[in-house]
Amino acid sequence: MQQLRFDNAFVRELPGDPGWGTGPRQVLGALYSPVAPTPVAAPRVVAWSREMAQTLGLDEADISSAEFAQVFGGNALLEGMQPYAANYGGHQFGVWADQLGDGRAISLGEAIGADGRRWELQLKGAGRTPYSRGADGRAVLRSSIREFLCSEAMHHLGVPTTRALSLVVTGDAVVRDMFYDGHPQEEPGAIVCRVAPSFIRFGNFELPAARGDLALLRQLVDFTIARDFPELQGSGESLYAEWFGQVCERTAVMVAQWMRVGFVHGVMNTDNMSILGLTIDYGPYGWIDNFDPEWTPNTTDAGRRRYRFGQQPNVAWWNLSRLAMALAPLFAGVEPLQAGLDRYAARYAAADRVSVAAKLGLAECGDDDVALMQSLHALLTDAEVDMTLFFRALSEVDLKQPSLLPFNAAFYDEAKREAFEPAFHDWLLRYAARVASDPLSPGQRRARMHAANPRYVLRNYLAQQAIDRAMQGDYAGVHELLEVMRHPYDEQPGNERYAQKRPDWARQKAGCSMLSCSS
Ligand code: AMP
Ligand code: MG
Repeated sequence: MQQLRFDNAFVRELPGDPGWGTGPRQVLGALYSPVAPTPVAAPRVVAWSREMAQTLGLDEADISSAEFAQVFGGNALLEGMQPYAANYGGHQFGVWADQLGDGRAISLGEAIGADGRRWELQLKGAGRTPYSRGADGRAVLRSSIREFLCSEAMHHLGVPTTRALSLVVTGDAVVRDMFYDGHPQEEPGAIVCRVAPSFIRFGNFELPAARGDLALLRQLVDFTIARDFPELQGSGESLYAEWFGQVCERTAVMVAQWMRVGFVHGVMNTDNMSILGLTIDYGPYGWIDNFDPEWTPNTTDAGRRRYRFGQQPNVAWWNLSRLAMALAPLFAGVEPLQAGLDRYAARYAAADRVSVAAKLGLAECGDDDVALMQSLHALLTDAEVDMTLFFRALSEVDLKQPSLLPFNAAFYDEAKREAFEPAFHDWLLRYAARVASDPLSPGQRRARMHAANPRYVLRNYLAQQAIDRAMQGDYAGVHELLEVMRHPYDEQPGNERYAQKRPDWARQKAGCSMLSCSS
């Protein structure tokens, strides 16, 4: 592990909090607070990502060393690590929440990986920081498993995301009231080591802007561009405008990918939006089973459904407009920021068309194809059809004689299947006619569809089953799921059980269809 080399630009170049200790406080004029992880009783590595380890230059012997568990459980630091909690604000559910900060995440340092790239290592659940407010700074096993698995599953699906290196159980208990209903329970504590080139969020910019600290805001913008967007050239307002436009485009690509695979983030607050356009902060996220734009996994948001599946592209735009407001003092007028937001809309529309073409197996997507996809979405919603199974099966349909046979396993309700059979038949005829005029060969089409329509996604109930086993001390379910999710687009003979639609028992079960923020 001594091969890990650190270059801690964030703490070296930006102002830190002169205060000390973990007492809750408002931190002014500083972008972070130095703070060490709080030691845990008995750290043990229970899962790790071989791809992430390899990227960092770590091998199996490193991961199984006693030192690794100590460091990634928060009991020891490697030479060169300078732990800190970042100071940021955010709009939560549409309301400005002022200072939030890393309340339970502690960054250890910026490692330079085997690939020469910068990888910030961050422990989630490592204990209290000045931003913990009344909370304990810890994370429970069930949410840590969810974050660990989903980070890597998203990566393998080709969705921009923060990564996960390790999952460590701490040996300490954490008390949580899972549904805020007066039933607190002790649960096993855990720590995930998250990894990303940068964990800077929209909220990091919003906080100094809200406080009128323009010097600090400008310093953070200059730092972010120099460290994380080195390809951008120029200076002054035009550089800032180009950078904001890039942030908008990256965000558009990320959300378009969420929509392609059926991912619902669940808490798209601006403190959970990465400046690099990475999916960040896996909390009460969920995966679409039956296609439903109205669905949200987050019980905290069940009333208004602000962050429901179909709303995500609009929410991302709104969040970017909050970032634009924060950056506005750096511009003479609002036009460059408006232009950036327009780039979001254009890039999203373009990325969505790429998805439509790929999911339907077409060489290109025209206006009629967007309409074709929309009518399919309406059908999938009304007939309660599994999104993942449907799109995967679509490449198996005999377009000369389309029938619903390949889709049988995708329906959740037999009566609805019967009722909507004629409508699906009509849609398949439209689709067949469209495919007939497309230049791709059947083989090309199938390959294109298989690369865009995953066979395996981290269905909520699958993650919950792995969690249930882990709670009994058996981590094999976590390992199996991680293994399956490494190749989500491949047929995996023997692993068909991981590609099945949500079983009936999981429909209303906690963890399988609904989750709270409290974890
Ligand atoms: P989240 O909903 O996870 O994005 O968290 C929102 C804010 O609450 C962030 O500032 C978190 O750091 C903080 N937070 C969430 N859970 C905890 C916890 N258990 N201890 C301390 N801070 C927390
Ligand atoms: Mg957060």
